[in-house]
Amino acid sequence: MEEIKNFINGEFQNSSSGEYIDNINPATGELIGKIASSNSIDVQNAVEAANMAFTSWSALTLEQRIIWLDKIADALEAKKELVAQTESKDTGKPISLARRVDASRSISNFRFFAQFTSQQNPMEFEMEDAMNYVHRKPVGVVGLITPWNLPLYLLTWKIAPALVMGNTIIAKPSELTPLTANLFASILQDIDFPKGVFNIVHGLGPSAGQPILEHPKIKAISFTGGTQTGRIVAKTAAPLFKKLSLELGGKNATVILADADLHAAAKGAARAGFTNSGQVCLCGSRILVDASIAQQFTELFLTEVRGMKQGNPLNEATEIGSLISIQHLEKVESYVKLAKQEGGTILTGGNRPTISGLEGSKGAYLEPTVIGGLDINSRTATEEIFGPVVTLHIFENEEQAIEMTNSTEYGLAGSVWTTNLERGRKFSEQIETGIMWVNTWLHRDLRTPFGGVKNSGVGREGGQWSLSFFSEMTNICVKLD
Ligand code: NAD
Repeated sequence: MEEIKNFINGEFQNSSSGEYIDNINPATGELIGKIASSNSIDVQNAVEAANMAFTSWSALTLEQRIIWLDKIADALEAKKELVAQTESKDTGKPISLARRVDASRSISNFRFFAQFTSQQNPMEFEMEDAMNYVHRKPVGVVGLITPWNLPLYLLTWKIAPALVMGNTIIAKPSELTPLTANLFASILQDIDFPKGVFNIVHGLGPSAGQPILEHPKIKAISFTGGTQTGRIVAKTAAPLFKKLSLELGGKNATVILADADLHAAAKGAARAGFTNSGQVCLCGSRILVDASIAQQFTELFLTEVRGMKQGNPLNEATEIGSLISIQHLEKVESYVKLAKQEGGTILTGGNRPTISGLEGSKGAYLEPTVIGGLDINSRTATEEIFGPVVTLHIFENEEQAIEMTNSTEYGLAGSVWTTNLERGRKFSEQIETGIMWVNTWLHRDLRTPFGGVKNSGVGREGGQWSLSFFSEMTNICVKLD
């Protein structure tokens, strides 16, 4: 059984309390490890280490830090299969998905920021009698707090730009998925990465995360997680005037216009709805379809969904694994029950499946579930479920489709399906959201802005937005003779 310790000043250390939290494999219900349960003393120790390391790390040239990012990418690449296996075990996600998305993206986050940063031009603004130079400095010690759905993918998405801009880091991964962050720390040890530049404090949000928000020496907080936790983060960090990036929940729409290629749209909607068992903030959990093609689309879509292979995450063919925990499964199931009370009809799914080879185990599985007949303003259709449950709604015209798409408190992402690309672009411009895809979903260019509006977050990550968040700018105006 694996014992996951904090990583402070380049060493693995027990938490000061000596207490641990159980780590469960959600695909089997088995106890697979113990995680250090940390508190403010551990955060303080990590901050001291990060503060000490800041002087030398921030004094490196940009080129030297870029070389470190590439070294980290190489070391991660050498352990790619182990990263994927570890992520699959910790989250219950299919091994094929963990390889294709989690492990690959963790590596490319470092490669991308190494290359992108090296291509930045100096920011200079010439006046008739003066010259402005924008000098970028690191923020200092930064806190990175991340969720369980894409554990190393989302953590490295923050680590890479934070490091390259010269900051030192206190990371708090989700208490449900500590394994790949721990593996990442051991990889840093193997390559003799400078001690104290990257630190991990494991544990629960209120005891290990909250002290990170409150610590006066932590100058910026990059948080990805639920909207409710985001409120606590904002409330704690804003009065301390910390830089804040909040990437929060979503209730995204997949909109099928009448002129869509229905086969492609059905495939795309199934992928958007059920990737990672619907546990991606970008998942399209509401499908809005034009009345004139609703019946035809629904048949194609249900065929796609029923054809998805749910099974043991370690089987190569599995497309849908388990949810993150039994507790989360129960929450998702409560929405299936609520949907029935709200007048919905379960068109497919809704039950706990029997998983071949795992009969009798306590895995957290739910069949991919499609619900029709609900009001667009029902709780099931407006609250984030974050599981393999999508609702299907019908609209009469484009105006109504726009209104329905915008009818939740969230505004993170969405997709629209149409053979008229100009129509797709115009439709997208009217959606209150951070990201829209036309005829695709989760198609990412890491240079583009990523983030949400309304209750889905504040700020953007990606490319220049990440570099700006993890740096402070001084404008130096030099009067010319
Ligand atoms: P969560 O908000 O419960 O937890 C996220 C992290 O915050 C965890 O590490 C947790 O321990 C920590 N935390 C909890 N309370 C805290 C506190 N008081 N102080 C500091 N840290 C605290 O979210 P989750 O259940 O792990 O993840 C699912 C949510 O994340 C969903 O709502 C999903 O939409 C969202 N998400 C958003 C994005 C995005 O980019 N917008 C990406 C992935 C997930």
